[in-house]
Parts: sequence; structure tokens; C-alpha cells
Amino acid sequence: MSEQTDKTKCLIIGSGPAGYTAAIYAARADLKPMMYEGLEPGGQLTTTTEVENYPGYPEGTQGPQMMEDFKKQAVRFDADIRPGIITKIDLSKQPFMAKADDGKIIEADTVILATGATAKWLGLDSEAKFNGYGVSACATCDGFFYKGKDVLVVGGGDTAAEESTYLAKLCKKVYLVHRRDELRASKAMQRKVFDTPNLEVVWDSVVEEIVGTEEGFNKAVTGVKVKNVQTGESKEINVDGVFIAIGHKPNSDIVKGQLDMNEVGYVKTASDSTKTNIDGVFACGDVQDHVFRQAVTAAGTGCMSAIEAERYLSSV
Ligand code: NDP
Repeated sequence: MSEQTDKTKCLIIGSGPAGYTAAIYAARADLKPMMYEGLEPGGQLTTTTEVENYPGYPEGTQGPQMMEDFKKQAVRFDADIRPGIITKIDLSKQPFMAKADDGKIIEADTVILATGATAKWLGLDSEAKFNGYGVSACATCDGFFYKGKDVLVVGGGDTAAEESTYLAKLCKKVYLVHRRDELRASKAMQRKVFDTPNLEVVWDSVVEEIVGTEEGFNKAVTGVKVKNVQTGESKEINVDGVFIAIGHKPNSDIVKGQLDMNEVGYVKTASDSTKTNIDGVFACGDVQDHVFRQAVTAAGTGCMSAIEAERYLSSV
């Protein structure tokens, strides 16, 4: 592929609520932003079904549709949205230089990193089959659908502890399946887990299969086969929903060694800001947020990045 250099005042890497919101704000501020949408245009919301907690949609909406709407809004203000990924970026000097998989070299005055995070999955075929139809990686997003029902959470860290205690407030019964005999979660979170009467920890156990029904396009989870790794015994637990909470991986490999990040790869930003350790480079959404991870908070930080990029450009 021949190489061609394109220039932009604002390069947005990654789509999803953070990236699209940054694009809307940057475009309306006349920065003529250029976005590379990434491997999964629209981000994690495109793997969910119904979204009921994003303000402004009184009847709820579908995750993929919502991301289409975000994109359309950015396009309406002439954001240059391109399919494809940025494969390399050099943030060591201005202008920043990036390379895309379409062969383009991009010269950018500011960079907004909105590459998100990827939920870790168990890797079972049945998990993929029921994803969005009873299998989820976000209790805050999907817990409501299981009000009064029985659900199962997989994991033993703070996320699993938090998700299972959150779900216990909504659901009749919550099973927390952990592969070892002690939780990794902080002592305070562990206490919450043990003090929740309708939450049962299933120790030393791994998920073998997620079981469900399938009729045409209608799919539903009915249970989970778990195996005790100490005794080798398997049993089926009847539940309507399964929440996988075994961690997320921030998609920050591309800026490793250039941007400050914590030990697991979340990009560090200044407090009350999306500024990174490099002037003119901003990070928003799940690549810098391991705490809230919501579409609405991601959109909020995307807006902050665009405003900060604009202010940076007018200050240099
Ligand atoms: P963690 O990496 O801390 O925990 C992941 C858990 O999932 C571990 O218990 C691990 O088991 C288990 N696990 C991993 N892979 C598999 C697998 N393939 N099959 C079964 N189980 C598996 O991730 P979290 O998302 O829980 O937390 C990430 C970071 O975010 C942590 O630093 C955490 O403290 C922080 N956090 C803080 C919160 C808060 O302060 N309110 C809320 C949520 C997260 P094992 O223990 O055996 O390794």
C-alpha cells in the first residue's frame, strides 16, 4: 500500500461513547477531527443488547443502535471517521506521527486516545453463543433484566465482589463462582460478600458450560455447569443470567512506554482532567477508567478530552 501523509488538528483513536463524543465536540469546535474507529467500531456497547441506563432514551435502546446514533451525530458535523486501526504512534515530538492500517501516515497536533478496554471472557463456545442473551460482563448495565431472578457471577476480584453484591440487591439469589478457595477481592469487599444473605460463594469451581434454550432467534440461559476442581464433581446450577467478572484489559498497548499507566495498563490522567503525561495527548473512556466504566461516564470524559484539546491548541 502506498504511503500518504494526512494532517489533522485532532486525531481520535478508537470509537465508542468516549471517542464519538470527543468527535462531536471537536468537530463542533472546528478542529476537523479525524477518527480511526478501531477493531470494534462502536466499542463494547456493540456487544450488548438493551441499554436502559443512558439518559435521554426513556424507552431504552439497543447498544449497537446507540453507537450508530453517536456516529451519525459526529458525521453530521463533518468528523472524518475512518474504518481501520492505528498500528503505530510516535508521541515523542510534535506533531505526533501515527500510522494506520490503510497505509496512511497521519500528522496530528493533538491525540485523543479512546481505545477502551476489553472484558476478559472465559473462552467457552456456550459463553459466546449466549453473549447478550443471558451472558454479560456488566452488572450495572444488564442486572436490571434479572430482577427477582437467580444469576451467577464468575470471578474472585473486586469486580466480581462488587457485581455480585450489586446483583444481590436486585436478584433473588446470586451464586459467585470462584476457581480458588479464597477471594482476591479486598477485605472490605469480601466482608460485603460474606454478609449478603442471598449470595452464595461456590468455591474451587470453574464453569464448564453455559446451558440454555434456543428457538430461532430467541436464546435464553437456563443454567451453568460448574466443576469443583478439588473433587472433580460437576453440577448444574439453574440461573437466568451469567455475569463474567474476571477482569478487563485496557487497550493501551499502542502507547506502552510513551504514556504513564498503572501496573495493569490503564492510562493515567491528571485529576479532574483527561490530560496525560504528554502535552497535547488526552485519554478518555475505559482506557483510563477502571472504576466506573459506563457509557455515560465515557461520553463525559470524551467531551472533556475535546474541550481540553481545543484549549491546548489555542494555547500553543
Ligand atoms: P482482578 O484481576 O483483580 O480479578 C480477576 C478475578 O477473576 C480473579 O479472582 C481471578 O482468579 C479470576 N479469573 C481470572 N481469569 C479467570 C478465568 N479464566 N477463569 C476463572 N476465573 C478467572 O480483576 P478485577 O476486574 O476484579 O479488578 C481489576 C482491578 O480493578 C483491581 O485492581 C481491582 O482492585 C480494581 N477494582 C476496584 C474496585 C473498587 O475499588 N471499587 C472495583 C472493581 C475493580 P484468581 O484470584 O484465582 O486469579
